[in-house]
Amino acid sequence: MSTALPKTADVVVVGGGIVGAATAQALARAGMKPLVLEKGAFGGAVSGASLACISTHMMDLEELKLLAWTRARWAELDAEIGGFEYNRCGQLRFIAREADIAVAEGWIAAERAAGLTPELLDPAAVREIEPALTGPILAASWSALDAVVNPFLAVRALLADAQRHGATVRAHTHVTAVRTDGGRVTGVATPAGTVDTPHVVLAAGPWAAKLAAPLGVVLPMLPRKAQCLATVRVPPVIRRVVGACESAGGVEAGYTQIQQAREGQVLFNTVLAGGTAQAGGADKNDGTGAAAVTPPPVVPPVDLAFVRDSVETLLWLFPGLADIAVLRSWVRYEAVTPDSRFVAGPAGPDGLWIAAGDNGTGFVRSPAIGRLITDGILERDPPFDTALYRADRFAMAAAA
Ligand SMILES: Cc1cc2nc3c(=O)[nH]c(=O)nc-3n(C[C@H](O)[C@H](O)[C@H](O)COP(=O)(O)OP(=O)(O)OC[C@H]3O[C@@H](n4cnc5c(N)ncnc54)[C@H](O)[C@@H]3O)c2cc1C
Repeated sequence: MSTALPKTADVVVVGGGIVGAATAQALARAGMKPLVLEKGAFGGAVSGASLACISTHMMDLEELKLLAWTRARWAELDAEIGGFEYNRCGQLRFIAREADIAVAEGWIAAERAAGLTPELLDPAAVREIEPALTGPILAASWSALDAVVNPFLAVRALLADAQRHGATVRAHTHVTAVRTDGGRVTGVATPAGTVDTPHVVLAAGPWAAKLAAPLGVVLPMLPRKAQCLATVRVPPVIRRVVGACESAGGVEAGYTQIQQAREGQVLFNTVLAGGTAQAGGADKNDGTGAAAVTPPPVVPPVDLAFVRDSVETLLWLFPGLADIAVLRSWVRYEAVTPDSRFVAGPAGPDGLWIAAGDNGTGFVRSPAIGRLITDGILERDPPFDTALYRADRFAMAAAA
């Protein structure tokens, strides 16, 4: 198989994380011949380090249509492609404070009004579906249709399917610039040469802002650290995704997510304060001065306080795991936007498309983002609202 860089492509997708992979898969299935260029290994940035919960619960009420679509799409992808350990295990969100019962009830009522099926469980009902969760919780919400996938296998499965349908993929190929002529995209530059193309999709996570800036496109997108720890393998004990009830929804500092991998490791995730990748910063992006900030090239060190706090929370919920040993912990960069939503759609010169700004929940949304970009390029209407993701929404809000 040739590893030379193709000279032309229908579309160049910059970034081989889950968003780039899902976009290439959707494009290829729609009959286009995309080229995916990844500067490192496929899934080697945040995507491969993910817990990859496919969830609609306690996320974003305005995005429920997209979330319901994308959750269903993951189930279809499992049936069509498979190979990524799709597991519809359901998700519990535990409640530790009296005040959070009303918070959970609010989310449940709104989601049920939109046709979803979450419910509130008392501790006895929680233990029926998660027997080892014997900690002193007050209640939990339960979203039975939520699922998990293996993140590395999912990136690979989508790229493989894209290739079967006409895509080409190249790892270790750094896109250094998007080329334009007369207000139109004409190609990309890499150290291995240039590729001519009328469409470039920036699925480059928090690095998208740097690639877009020379084209006059300001993306207020900041890197944020997300940390995970894994224990040694233990026999199956945690059956569901177990998260904390979140008043704001989505993923913010202090967020908790626990699950057990198929191989047996117990995994614990949160995001760390630091919207500018600096310790102690806010976890929200306020949109000021963002364009110049890109993640440092090195993988950031782990926060040991997080490891200690995570183990405490784990044992509070699952006291039976008292003898468990932590194996390792890792940190990766997510891309946060001021309104915690993706930027997905056209921007700047004709033919430039942005597919970045995952805000810590990009895995679940990736098939929908891929569909949105594909429909945009093919001038079709996607099955959900695109206005929420417009690249110019921050400038419009500032002008207003
Ligand atoms: C511990 C943890 C748990 C998580 N849990 C969940 C979860 O349960 N559910 C969920 O939905 N999400 C979860 N997430 C978030 C999710 O993993 C991310 O939102 C998602 O993976 C983002 O995908 P991406 O493709 O946008 O980014 P990335 O994976 O960062 O991909 C971008 C790619 O672009 C490449 N790139 C950048 N610049 C260039 C360039 N110039 N040329 C070529 N390539 C370039 C990078 O190398 C990178 O591989 C979690 C994240 C972490 C860390």
